[in-house]
Amino acid sequence: MQVAILGGGINGFCCAVQIKEKWPESNVTIISDLFTPSTTGDGSAGLWGPYLMCDTPAEKVNEWSMAMHNFLKQIWLSGDSGKAGVCLIPVIRLTANEKPMDDSWRDIVYGCKNLDKSELEAYSRLHNKTFTSGLHFVTYTSEPVKLLPYLEKRFRSSGGNVITKKITDFDEFIRNSHYDVIVNCVGLGALDLVNDKLVHSIRGQVSRVKANWIYQVFLDESDDGNYIIPNVDTVVLGGTHQENDYNLNICPNDKTFIKNGCQNYFPGLKHAQHLTDWVGLRPGRKQVRLEMETTYNNKILIHNYGHGGCGVTLSWGCASEVVKLLQTTMKSKL
Ligand SMILES: Cc1cc2nc3c(=O)[nH]c(=O)nc-3n(C[C@H](O)[C@H](O)[C@H](O)COP(=O)(O)OP(=O)(O)OC[C@H]3O[C@@H](n4cnc5c(N)ncnc54)[C@H](O)[C@@H]3O)c2cc1C
Repeated sequence: MQVAILGGGINGFCCAVQIKEKWPESNVTIISDLFTPSTTGDGSAGLWGPYLMCDTPAEKVNEWSMAMHNFLKQIWLSGDSGKAGVCLIPVIRLTANEKPMDDSWRDIVYGCKNLDKSELEAYSRLHNKTFTSGLHFVTYTSEPVKLLPYLEKRFRSSGGNVITKKITDFDEFIRNSHYDVIVNCVGLGALDLVNDKLVHSIRGQVSRVKANWIYQVFLDESDDGNYIIPNVDTVVLGGTHQENDYNLNICPNDKTFIKNGCQNYFPGLKHAQHLTDWVGLRPGRKQVRLEMETTYNNKILIHNYGHGGCGVTLSWGCASEVVKLLQTTMKSKL
């Protein structure tokens, strides 16, 4: 079986690793114009958590996210956690919005509990806001700038191939390449590559600082909220979520919003060393597109893109679904 994975981001690599490990005799190649540290996930903190998922059904989001949680647990227990950038960490997730936050995933994380009235009042006093609901739980971060090299090493050592190339004509690629299976994981690139008008950018700007004294994730999900997420060596301060904004430049106003907002929660951040600013364009879509088509000459084409604000969280589970689709199709062809 000759398999091409288009896209070298977190979704492409999870599919590549799972397909190669499921069918070791297959020839699996990732084709992508960009790789780590230049993909959408590379600046993100990789916090596990469903976020900005539009209308993707909650049961699918939870199934895929649970698979990633289990995968991260395996890495955490295996001793590879340091090199793969996987941390187990307590999280406070709060909102000042009237609508309570979605917690349909609460049984996946560890020890999730609602903050009671007195805790909400205490956080509100401390941070000068009126929080309406909140959760406390423990989960994983898996920063892609470390997880991607880990997956790449795992993929290459099982015999996988990697090619740096931009595909400009999708139909031509399907017709003229020798691949029997093509998995499309190009994220926002689907806008041009397959002319999918449902895909759009959700711009995110973040800063990274040195603040090794922060041991907890703090997420204010209110419309005007900020977040603080520790990774292995640095802490991510966020962030923006600007729909249909394609600007990859650092915006000074966003930088000020991030700095002031995060310092309001944790005043000690005033003294933290600023390291970098970063912008990424999340691949927003009304729903994740995870489906199969049979195309020219009976080739199998599977689309797997549009993971919005939680493409890291969904990546391992979506890749498992790609493997299941492939398995079912191959059985029916026997
Ligand atoms: C600021 C920010 C913070 C985030 N935080 C989190 C978080 O904490 N947790 C979480 O779960 N998610 C988070 N996300 C979301 C997550 O980063 C994305 O959903 C995820 O990275 C998308 O991965 P992907 O592999 O689908 O796409 P991408 O990473 O965009 O990869 C697509 C790949 O396809 C390649 N490509 C595109 N077009 C072509 C073409 N024509 N030919 C060849 N190659 C092509 C690109 O070069 C790229 O390698 C965050 C995003 C941002 C911006």
